[in-house]
Amino acid sequence: MTTPEISFEFFPPKNLEASFRLWDTVQSLAPLAPRFVSVTYGAGGTTRELTRDAVTTLHKNSGLRVAAHLTCVSATREETLAIADQYAEAGITDIVALRGDPPKEQGRFQPTPEGFNSSVELIEALAAKGTFTLRVGAYPESHPEAASQKANVEWLKRKLDAGADEALTQFFFEAESFFRFRDACAAAGIDTDRIIPGILPIENWKGVRRFAEACGTTIPAWLAEAFEKAERDNRCDLLATALCSELCGELLAGGVNKLHFYTLNRPELTRDVCHAIGVKSKVRLENVA
Ligand code: FAD
Repeated sequence: MTTPEISFEFFPPKNLEASFRLWDTVQSLAPLAPRFVSVTYGAGGTTRELTRDAVTTLHKNSGLRVAAHLTCVSATREETLAIADQYAEAGITDIVALRGDPPKEQGRFQPTPEGFNSSVELIEALAAKGTFTLRVGAYPESHPEAASQKANVEWLKRKLDAGADEALTQFFFEAESFFRFRDACAAAGIDTDRIIPGILPIENWKGVRRFAEACGTTIPAWLAEAFEKAERDNRCDLLATALCSELCGELLAGGVNKLHFYTLNRPELTRDVCHAIGVKSKVRLENVA
């Protein structure tokens, strides 16, 4: 089994305490030498400034390659591309380009007047700048809005053809879900080395369960039972580390060589899983803040 290359997703902190937690998380995970780390953009475009500040601060102070998430929601094309230009000026080379989830009250995505109509339009515009490594979202168990799994895969191909370099997947609980999707992508002519599995260590079972239901990720009955038992015995962390390490091991055995971890700004489980799958600490992060 090869040792994978890894990357980490963080969300932008909303207050001082959360800023310290993010910095602690970064310091704890940086020695694992991630390919890049990414910072999300709040649903409905709610964290525009917070994301920009977190991205540029991490870029300046962490020594890590930082990718900024950017969505089409609640902004005109001009505003969205101005954010990208600010990133380029600050030396940010990586963007995760998404259509984005709409504000809660809106229900379905509706393009902003003068805004991008879809992720493909955003990717094309960013690719035309020629300065960014572009990553996009992919959905192994299909996106809730996709007409079918075939349409879901075809749309991913359009995003890659529009200029995206890699796709980071939504999380899933069984390696087979990823392998089925990878096969469908291969059949559609997609270079599957560019599809990176997204891994969510289960920090909080009830929260993850709600999140999975909302985004259409299948919750296997055995998983729900295991966490219900572990909650009674207060052993959720042990179970989460074991199951996530097993999932990553199966993916690596199936030929995957890159993994993207959703850290939720908590380093412990992600770090333990990385150690379990053979990712060793390589460097010490100098605190240059
Ligand atoms: P797309 O891939 O463009 O569309 C999703 C699906 O809808 C496709 O599978 C396709 O079948 C269908 N579809 C959409 N438009 C069309 C069309 N015009 N024609 C045909 N089919 C279409 N959300 C945030 O708000 N902020 C974030 O920072 C963020 N980070 C994310 C990171 C990752 C790795 C992932 C996987 C998701 C992230 N999301 C984030 C969630 C994401 O914004 C939502 O899932 C959103 O609903 C879809 O965005 P997308 O760019 O992946 O959509």
